[in-house]
Amino acid sequence: MAYDFDLYVIGAGSGGVRSARFAAGFGAKVAVAESRYLGGTCVNVGCVPKKLLVYGAHFAEDFEQSAGFGWTLGEADFDWAALIANKDREINRLNGIYRNLLVNSGVTLHEGHARLIDPHQVEVNGQRYTAKHILIATGGWPQIPDIPGREHAISSNEAFFLKELPKRILVVGGGYIAVEFAGIFHGLGADTKLLYRGELFLRGFDGAVRKHLQEELTKRGLDLQFNADIERIEKQADGSLKVTLKDGRELATDCVFYATGRRPMLDNLGLENTGVKLDKRGFIEVDEQYQSAEPSILAIGDVIGRVQLTPVALAEGMAVARRLFKPEQYRPVDYNMIPTAVFSLPNIGTVGLTEEQAREAGHKVQIFESRFRPMKLTLTECQERTLMKLVVDAETDKVLGCHMVGPDAGEIVQGLAIALKAGATKRDFDETIGVHPTAAEEFVTMRTPVAG
Ligand code: FAD
Ligand code: NDP
Repeated sequence: MAYDFDLYVIGAGSGGVRSARFAAGFGAKVAVAESRYLGGTCVNVGCVPKKLLVYGAHFAEDFEQSAGFGWTLGEADFDWAALIANKDREINRLNGIYRNLLVNSGVTLHEGHARLIDPHQVEVNGQRYTAKHILIATGGWPQIPDIPGREHAISSNEAFFLKELPKRILVVGGGYIAVEFAGIFHGLGADTKLLYRGELFLRGFDGAVRKHLQEELTKRGLDLQFNADIERIEKQADGSLKVTLKDGRELATDCVFYATGRRPMLDNLGLENTGVKLDKRGFIEVDEQYQSAEPSILAIGDVIGRVQLTPVALAEGMAVARRLFKPEQYRPVDYNMIPTAVFSLPNIGTVGLTEEQAREAGHKVQIFESRFRPMKLTLTECQERTLMKLVVDAETDKVLGCHMVGPDAGEIVQGLAIALKAGATKRDFDETIGVHPTAAEEFVTMRTPVAG
């Protein structure tokens, strides 16, 4: 049967655009549908605008610390509306770049919501298109628990477009988004509380990293409330919000921001017209080659709920394009040693196993740890400390994990990830000459393991 397209991609986000462009480059006839914004979550309401806001928040400490270097500044004044307008302009520019990338690589763009009609057919804006393969790359959506008053809460989607910086804000959750946005709002001057339901935030990260970040954020005056869960939110006559916790405490605030995970975006997608199956958590179930239970339909990125990071969606998109249209270049995505950063202030950078994971996997581990005051702060009043940690297999000498909390942790860990991926040993680290004076050199000068 002749199809309109070789590949129809639903969703022009990180994974979808990558897959569509490369498939077209390999000679396939490709279309992509996008209902909302080109570039998807990362470009519009994720990585990119978030990082711009983190940069904005960081200036507060730069101004404060500049006095130690002889600078006298007038009173700093912050204009939220200016930051958001400049951010929006940059995102518009990126949307245009994504459009050009698609069009210039020969991909047909359909702007509208796509719905599956059958395993080979998609409907967009009332038009039907057939395709040999259909790729679902529809991403995720913020998930707010169903508590009384949830309609008064916002998610990251709205946080990027607030008209004003709230005077007081409660950020709920203990994952990436909660920690990053608590840092943004606190840095920009809002009275910020981070509420997390468990003992300690950032579950799954190395224990020393979690503790260190807790101490550093507390030193900076961020109000961390652990073992705290919201029962209900009520709007007051003056427009403020009354938040009642499950332990009976009441908190007054102007904004409640939930960052409690993301669900797969499957709304009105028409999956019921196909044999696609969902896994236990509700994400699309695929095999190791991203093939769903329906032979003609594949899925990648956040909608399959494996690792919800842009570079992973990109790698999956590339793998699908190669497998379908350039099989001789196909390589499966390697999910080992994925580096990641939390852009909290200070940043976390991490790659490989945590100490807890290494022990649980049966490794006999040696731990190397260094805590120090960054050189840049020695002329300032700031008492922030950096943490660096190596998890080493005592038997093979292989470095299993690198973890850092401190300025530029994400930048530093990217390079270390290459070393770990190549199987570097602690001896390789020891024999590497440092770059002096940097914080990063500490990773190659830790000599004595922590006792125990
Ligand atoms: P998306 O990028 O979400 O793209 C899906 C696209 O599909 C969207 O454009 C959507 O509009 C479209 N779509 C959905 N349904 C339909 C339909 N039926 N028809 C047509 N179009 C449809 N990751 C990092 O690596 N680093 C970070 O710093 C980082 N920061 C983040 C910060 C925030 C606040 C958030 C929310 C996420 C962040 N992420 C970060 C995660 C990253 O954004 C996602 O992992 C990534 O965007 C997933 O890509 P994707 O292609 O799977 O989906
Ligand atoms: P996460 O899954 O990282 O964290 C969710 C948090 O919400 C956890 O602390 C969880 O607690 C808590 N939580 C879940 N359900 C509830 C509930 N019903 N009530 C109270 N708390 C709850 O999700 P995020 O929303 O922070 O981010 C989504 C994903 O996006 C991330 O996992 C990451 O993959 C990606 N991302 C990446 C970034 C980066 O690379 N820098 C930045 C931002 C997002 P518990 O631990 O107890 O389950």
